[in-house]
Amino acid sequence: MRVAFCSSEIAPFAKTGGLGDVCGTLPLALEKLKIEPVLVLPRYQMIDPQKYQLKKISPEAWIGTAGQNIPVYFIEQEGYFGRKEIYGEDGGEYSDNLERFHCFCLKALELFKTQKKTMDIIHVHDWQAALIPVLLKSIFRSDLFYKKTKSILSIHNMAFQGIFPKDQFPKLGFDRRLFSMNGLEFYNQINLLKGGLIFSDRVATVSPHYAREIRTPEFGCGLEGVLANRREGVVGILNGLDYETWNPEADVHIKHRYSKDNWKSKFENKSYLQKLVGLPVKRNVPILAFVGRLTYQKGIELLMKAMDKVLALDLQLVFLGVGEPKYEQPLRRLAKKNPAKIAVSLKFSEELAHQIYAGSDLFLMPSVFEPCGLSQMISFRYGTIPLVYRTGGLADTVFPFDPATGEGTGFIFDQYKEDAFLKSLQEALLAYQDRPSFERLMTKVMNSDFSWERSAKEYQKLYLSLLN
Ligand code: ADP
Repeated sequence: MRVAFCSSEIAPFAKTGGLGDVCGTLPLALEKLKIEPVLVLPRYQMIDPQKYQLKKISPEAWIGTAGQNIPVYFIEQEGYFGRKEIYGEDGGEYSDNLERFHCFCLKALELFKTQKKTMDIIHVHDWQAALIPVLLKSIFRSDLFYKKTKSILSIHNMAFQGIFPKDQFPKLGFDRRLFSMNGLEFYNQINLLKGGLIFSDRVATVSPHYAREIRTPEFGCGLEGVLANRREGVVGILNGLDYETWNPEADVHIKHRYSKDNWKSKFENKSYLQKLVGLPVKRNVPILAFVGRLTYQKGIELLMKAMDKVLALDLQLVFLGVGEPKYEQPLRRLAKKNPAKIAVSLKFSEELAHQIYAGSDLFLMPSVFEPCGLSQMISFRYGTIPLVYRTGGLADTVFPFDPATGEGTGFIFDQYKEDAFLKSLQEALLAYQDRPSFERLMTKVMNSDFSWERSAKEYQKLYLSLLN
């Protein structure tokens, strides 16, 4: 069975968040199940052909490999992808993103044809690739090459839909009738994700909890009705983690390696982190970390609201993230004002991220909504205990710790309010003080299994159900 993955991000080539991780690692697990994945993404400027030993196969495409033997195609289009960033610069989106990702979708389908690679399934990810199912059922409808090809759309985040002004519709080259309620129209604008949701053969998302949530007005972002119209509903499959990249035993980015059976060098990573980010080296003061996009979704507003009370506690905070200037500036100011308590790195750094997961005690993830979330699973892997809001994939992966019984894996608050967050934080700090019990918790979370194996089998089942 041959399955194409079409995505705007595929790690390690291009990544801004979880989408890149998933599209870079799920195919590796599928390859082990004897599925034949083929990956496609744009050749952005940051993807150095030499570094990845890419070969140019035509003026419009390069080829490289991933995993054992997975072909990775890169769509070359200098005018659209030869830019500094993936989606936009200086906090704004590129104004021609509709054309850029329409071009990506069209060129991907043309490429499979010229390469004579028939696909059993084309698995597309998020709005940037969502035009592929639409193209398959319109422009390519009577193309014999795609006669048997099925499509699946995975939603990694319902909040990003690819919405553009309606006057740009002619740029897509579709019949005008496709700009309608049963097509790409959404409140008099173009909505690419909606097109994908209507025209793909199956819709999947990245956790069972989120699959239920997005069918409600609270989380559906206006598309809950479209999902309700799909007979087979939405399949929720929990993302896995690449246990090779995220492995404290073999992590090249961390100072001191450690394993779940002998994790004492986690403390050495803690001191190293404190020095690295300029915090006082104190072994018994808990480090609470945040690694993620600095956006509303990730709960920055709640953290800022509670910040005075948080900083009054005996703890240290480490932030790593890039995002909206309205969150970056106050964080920078806070760090300047409280250099002994809070360290802020406003950049994207894979290396520092690894060191933070390894050197921290607790991981803050108060996301307002979270389709799956990888950071909490990465934290588990490094014996760092997450504190999360009960939503989406966080609700599927983190269970409340009960110090009396030792059950549970983290700290969770149920009401999205400052008080509830602070109460949960107090519980976490109290638990941290009880060293034997907290260390048992650390060992337990390091033993949990969020590798891709199980989830990859669920994707295999989904693919087979579609082909039969
Ligand atoms: P999302 O996909 O919504 O951004 P996830 O939790 O699914 O969130 O995945 C985030 C991934 O991106 C994790 O691997 C996290 O470590 C990484 N990440 C986020 N921000 C940064 C950053 N500034 N530097 C390094 N890695 C980051």
